[in-house]
Amino acid sequence: MQKISVLSGGMGGATFVRGLLHGIRSGAVPRVARDAEVTVVANTADDLWVHGLKVCPDLDTVMYTLGDGIDPERGWGRRDETWSTKEELAAYGVEPTWFGLGDRDIATHLVRTQMLEAGYPLSEVTTALCRRWQPGVRLLPMTDDRVETHIAIADPDEPSGRRVVHFQEYWVRLRAQVPAEAVVVVGQEASTPGPGVLEAIRDADLVVLPPSNPVVSVGTILGVPGIREAVTTTAAPVVGLSPIVGDTHVRGMAHQVLTAIGVEVTAGAVARHYGSRRDGGVLDGWLVDTRDEHHVAAVRDAGIACAAVPLMMSDVDATAAMAAAAVGLVA
Ligand code: GDP
Ligand code: CA
Repeated sequence: MQKISVLSGGMGGATFVRGLLHGIRSGAVPRVARDAEVTVVANTADDLWVHGLKVCPDLDTVMYTLGDGIDPERGWGRRDETWSTKEELAAYGVEPTWFGLGDRDIATHLVRTQMLEAGYPLSEVTTALCRRWQPGVRLLPMTDDRVETHIAIADPDEPSGRRVVHFQEYWVRLRAQVPAEAVVVVGQEASTPGPGVLEAIRDADLVVLPPSNPVVSVGTILGVPGIREAVTTTAAPVVGLSPIVGDTHVRGMAHQVLTAIGVEVTAGAVARHYGSRRDGGVLDGWLVDTRDEHHVAAVRDAGIACAAVPLMMSDVDATAAMAAAAVGLVA
């Protein structure tokens, strides 16, 4: 295999791709050439404008993680970060105070915003930013269009009993601690895949759904008109790794958004939600964690090859072993 394409969110996807690359380059992923090209199609539905700056959390998490600029403790933003700008903005009482931009990170958003305002599409801006970070993958935004995930939450003060907040407000300000009642992806129907995205899926030797959020990361990528069809019809095998381990997400808030769309929070239910390519879904194979072995039979019954292996991305070697198992399942 020479060409591998991964549909990624932020932390889960980026951590997986770092391990995948480590495994490929060290020859630890059987059937994949050591010089294989990896393309990451990243979710952009988390993006937001804040203090006049365009912020793309998932693109940046992938870029910083693979470019070795990530803060390893937080899992987002820059290492050795300082927060003077945030403190100064708070001193002015400028909202939103809940979304923290670090001083180093702000430089990325300044460059991006200036380029967007000069007329460059997000895909070209991303390529330009990656010239500095050299992530070792081709990093493609799922779309150049504005697509935003909003979350409906209960609000007794509203006539409808509901209020809609931007995904980042739900995640960062509300810490996903109130139930998500619905997920609304604004602008998605009118969006088109970013340059190179459909080709990356159609021309791949393998397509991977990493352990990213199935609703607000992989789900929003697949929801861009044309992308799901490219995944269902590509000649490449498509394999996924469960982001749900032992009936809960490891970190993040997959639990809340799966519940909002009526999908049970188990590794097996997520596989059935994605569906078998045999029946028009997106999966040929699905890996679950060893502690979810009892789900394997039901996933196989749904027409998806399935195996149970350790799925905790504790270090790059453990993650590379997950990648090797994923390839082995469908190759
Ligand atoms: P985000 O955009 O930063 O939320 O990142 P992603 O959507 O790419 O991935 C988030 C998901 O990764 C979480 O909801 C978890 O379910 C999953 N996750 C995080 N760490 C691990 C891990 O070590 N193993 C597995 N299997 N899943 C993980
Ligand atoms: Ca995200």
